[in-house]
Amino acid sequence: MKNKRRFGRFHRLLAAAGLCALACLGAGLVTTRPVGCSNDDLTAPLEVMTEDPSEEEKVVYLTFDDGPSSTTEAVLDILKKEEVPATFFVIAAENNEKYLPLLERTAAEGHMIALHTCTHDYKAIYQSPSAYWQDIDALKEKLSAYVDPQELVWLRFPGGSTNTVSHKYGGSSIMKDLKAQATEKGYHYVDWNVCADDAIGGHPSAEKIYNNVIRDVGDKHRCIVLMHDTKATQNTAAALPDIIRWFKNAGYRFDTVDHLEREI
Ligand SMILES: [Zn+2]
Repeated sequence: MKNKRRFGRFHRLLAAAGLCALACLGAGLVTTRPVGCSNDDLTAPLEVMTEDPSEEEKVVYLTFDDGPSSTTEAVLDILKKEEVPATFFVIAAENNEKYLPLLERTAAEGHMIALHTCTHDYKAIYQSPSAYWQDIDALKEKLSAYVDPQELVWLRFPGGSTNTVSHKYGGSSIMKDLKAQATEKGYHYVDWNVCADDAIGGHPSAEKIYNNVIRDVGDKHRCIVLMHDTKATQNTAAALPDIIRWFKNAGYRFDTVDHLEREI
């Protein structure tokens, strides 16, 4: 019970982190093509990182949203070379479905695969809780050829769990309802507290993306880093070796988000 309570608290904390995700939402309004999430989406900070970290081990969770894509192999090559794990919150939209077989390599190399939504279309997924869960079921069905669906128990809501863009489609309680239902269904969800701002338009340079990440880390000892894995975010892959090196030099351990529960 104690653990459950603590985890529940952690979820609330994570939920607060969704700021970065709003970028996802903005672009999703007019197109079904997935777009990046950013800091503007979350309406509350990821409070878990405000706990006194003075005696805690430093851990970084690299996360990649909106893939797989034509950039995935470059990302996997870097992660393999640097020998660090990451978490991929994937979609299965029209424009990326052909890359889904890359999930076999992703899983085989020790990375975690998690759910982002099938279509990433805000208007559709946030229309109602049932529409959202239908979309998640469709995603799991499409992933089932490459990943054991039983292992797909982690979610990241497009726009983050505290986004308000969804209210436009599903009313002001849509995220609250979805979060409660996610927990009831046995899912966990996680936002982020470090945002690369790599999918916000203008194709930020690798140097800019690197600087965005370091800027957000500050003195956090638990960093959940939001990056993207799309055709448009090749500069994220270009920045990744330096980002990883920075965290290594700063003494961070790399892990996947499914281990968050036991670490809090
Ligand atoms: Zn996204």
